[in-house]
Amino acid sequence: MASSAAKTVLIVYAHQSAGSFNAAAKDATVDVLEKQGCKVLVSDLYAMAFEATATEKDITGSVKNPEHFCYGEETMLAWQEGQLASDIVEEHKKLQEAELVVFQFPMYWFSVPAIMKGWMDRVLTLGFAYTPEKRYSQGIFRDKKAMLSFTTGSHESMFSPNGINGDMNVTLWPIQNGVLYYCGFQVLAPQIFWAPKHLSSEGREKLLESWRTRLPGLLSETPLAFPTADSFDAGKGYQLKPDIKKLQAESPFGLTVGHHMEKPLPPHNQMKAGV
Ligand SMILES: Cc1cc2nc3c(=O)[nH]c(=O)nc-3n(C[C@H](O)[C@H](O)[C@H](O)COP(=O)(O)OP(=O)(O)OC[C@H]3O[C@@H](n4cnc5c(N)ncnc54)[C@H](O)[C@@H]3O)c2cc1C
Repeated sequence: MASSAAKTVLIVYAHQSAGSFNAAAKDATVDVLEKQGCKVLVSDLYAMAFEATATEKDITGSVKNPEHFCYGEETMLAWQEGQLASDIVEEHKKLQEAELVVFQFPMYWFSVPAIMKGWMDRVLTLGFAYTPEKRYSQGIFRDKKAMLSFTTGSHESMFSPNGINGDMNVTLWPIQNGVLYYCGFQVLAPQIFWAPKHLSSEGREKLLESWRTRLPGLLSETPLAFPTADSFDAGKGYQLKPDIKKLQAESPFGLTVGHHMEKPLPPHNQMKAGV
């Protein structure tokens, strides 16, 4: 197993309570990775009262076009000119240092809590985290890894293709593809703590133990599979190139959850590497 020695890991953590299961998962991550020799940084968003809304206040100087404020463009200029709000700058520094980012949160409305979405909206600044040219496999953070580690209220069976909530692979696509991989991150398989509230305390201990067992090898895990950016033809509206389509034609499945090519979704595409 590859050593995590001297690696820096950032945990972006969103839970209000130190007595929560999420707090226990975050504490386990810090404990195991620090024992491995990692430097672990934690952005405890509720404790920081992290601002969740993307507004003009994120720019310390004057905005260029106050009549029609465009957050992406204005914050890119502010970033270039060193005029971004200090809380964003602090998170940028942590991100730059980190080789792995772990997002630890309770699932809210099939997604991340608003405070964490606010972190994504405000910290993944245009220019700093992505540009229209530097995205997906050519993304700015392509040498970094990121993953979701979260709890649910629902049981695993409810988030299956025949379950009432639908397939968890579909639920994960917008954040894993549309946020993390979009910025170039190699996305590691998520750590899902299914319905800890409904388990016995022994059941919860087992969940934490399996996370503690996974953690030491995290940095050497194979990431989830996504198509490279050059699989799409920029001159043709970023459509899948014919040779990629041809290669996939034999498969009973589409390429990914999003690029399903009107075929059945590849099973576990957003939950397991190598599928
Ligand atoms: C706005 C909102 C939207 C939501 N949307 C969804 C949704 O879309 N899908 C969905 O599935 N769920 C949803 N939920 C439910 C939510 O995801 C769960 O309530 C949450 O994930 C549970 O995690 P927790 O850390 O808050 O659990 P907690 O309630 O804090 O913990 C569960 C249990 O673990 C115990 N515990 C704490 N520490 C330890 C430890 N060290 N060892 C063992 N046990 C420990 C606690 O005492 C508690 O009994 C939503 C909830 C809200 C409020």
